[in-house]
Amino acid sequence: MKKLELHWQILIGMIAGILFGFGMTQVAWGQEFVLDWIQPIGNIFVKLLKLIAIPLILASLVKGVSDLKDISKFKSIGLRTVIIYTITTLVAISIGLLIVNIAQPGKGIPQETIDKLIEAYSGDSGVTSKLAEASMQKERGPLHFLEDIVPDNAIFAMSDNGLMLQVIFFTIFLGISILLIGEEKGKPLKNFFDSLNEAVLKMVDLIMVTAPLAVFALLASVVVSSSDPDLLLALLKYAGVVFLGLSLMIVFYCIGISVFTNYNPFTFLKRLSPAQLLAFSTSSSAATLPVTMERVEEHIGVDAEVSSFVLPVGATVNMDGTSLYQGVAAVFISQALGFDLTFADQLTIVFTALLASIGSAAVPGAGMVMLVIVLEAIGFPSDKLAIGLALIFAVDRPLDMCRTVVNVTGDATVSMLVAKSVGKLGKPKIINNAHVIKVS
Ligand code: ASP
Repeated sequence: MKKLELHWQILIGMIAGILFGFGMTQVAWGQEFVLDWIQPIGNIFVKLLKLIAIPLILASLVKGVSDLKDISKFKSIGLRTVIIYTITTLVAISIGLLIVNIAQPGKGIPQETIDKLIEAYSGDSGVTSKLAEASMQKERGPLHFLEDIVPDNAIFAMSDNGLMLQVIFFTIFLGISILLIGEEKGKPLKNFFDSLNEAVLKMVDLIMVTAPLAVFALLASVVVSSSDPDLLLALLKYAGVVFLGLSLMIVFYCIGISVFTNYNPFTFLKRLSPAQLLAFSTSSSAATLPVTMERVEEHIGVDAEVSSFVLPVGATVNMDGTSLYQGVAAVFISQALGFDLTFADQLTIVFTALLASIGSAAVPGAGMVMLVIVLEAIGFPSDKLAIGLALIFAVDRPLDMCRTVVNVTGDATVSMLVAKSVGKLGKPKIINNAHVIKVS
C-alpha cells in the first residue's frame, strides 16, 4: 500500500487533534486530562525541534559560507536578502492597512461587547506580561540591536534559543575564516561541519516521523485552552480581516515565485507544506526552522549556500504575517476605542510595524508584545494599552498560528528569490520522499 504523504499525515493529525480537543471540552475532566496527558507529547516534539535548531544553523551555515567560491558572493546574497525581506514586509503592512481601512472591523461594535471583552481579559496575566515585556524592549537605545548581534561568548550564545542572531554572526565569522585559511587547512573543519549537517538533517527526518502525533497533541491542547466561543465570535470580523490579509500575502508570494523563478507555486506550497503545518501547530517560526530548512534545501532545491543564511536570519527578523497583523490590530483597537488615526499615524504604523516585526521573537505570542510599541508610536494613551490588548486577546492564539504560517512561507519564498537571482536554485534532492539526486 502506498504510504500517505507526510503533509496528509500531519493534516489528519491536526484535524483529529481539533476534534478530540472539542470533545474534551464537553466533559468536566477533559481539559485537565489533555493538559496532563496529551500536551507533554506536543511539548516534547517542540523541544526536540528547538534542540536541533542551533546545531543545524551552525553546521549548515558554516558549510554554506565555506563552500562559497569567493566572499563577494556572500555580500551579494546578504544585500539581496535584506532588500527583498524589507520589500515583502512593507507589502504585508500595506495590505493589512488597506483592508482594515476598507473593512473597518472596529467600527460599530456594540459597547456591551467591547465591555465584555475588556472585562474578560483586562486583569489577565497574559496581557500584563505582554505589557511588561514591551516596556523592557522600549527602554533600549536605537543602536542596541547592533550591539546585541555581536556575542562575547559563543557558547553562551548557542545555549540560548533567543540569541539566534548572535549564533548566525559567530557562524558566518567562522565560515569566512575557514574560507580565508585556504582549502588545505580548512578541510578538516569543513568535513566536520559537512558531516554534522547531514547528521542533523537526518535528525529532522527522524523527529518528523512523530509529527502527526505531535500536532494532534498540540492542537488538542490549544483547543481545550481556548477562549469562550462567544468572545471569539465577537471578534470574527477583525479576525476575518487579518486572515484575509494573510491569505493575500500567500497569493503575493505565489505570484512572486511564478514571475521570478518559473517554479510552479503550487508545487512550492506542496513541498513546503509540512513546515507550514508545523508553523500553524507550534506558533513558532524558531521551532519550525529546522523543518523549513530541510524542506527548502532538500525538497525545493535551494542551495545550502543561500538557504543556510536566508532562512535563520528570516526566522528572526522577517515576519510578514506578524507585521500585517500588527498593522491591522493597531487600527482595529484605535477604531474600537474611538481613537482617531490620521494619515501620518498610519505611516507611523508602517514604519514601526516594520521595525517591530524585526524585533519580535520567533515564539508564540511575540507579535502582541511588539504591538504595544506600535500603539505607543501612534500616541495611543498608555493607560488604555491594557484595554487595547485585552480587546483582541481572545483571538490572538488562532491568529498567531496563521501569521506564523505566513512568516515561514515568506522566509522560504525569499530564499527562493535570492537563490534564483544568484543562480543557486536547482533541482531538489528529494521528491515525494525519494532521493532523486545522489547526495555526495
Ligand atoms: N509566533 C510568531 C512567529 O513565531 C511571532 C508572532 O507573531 O507572535 O513567527
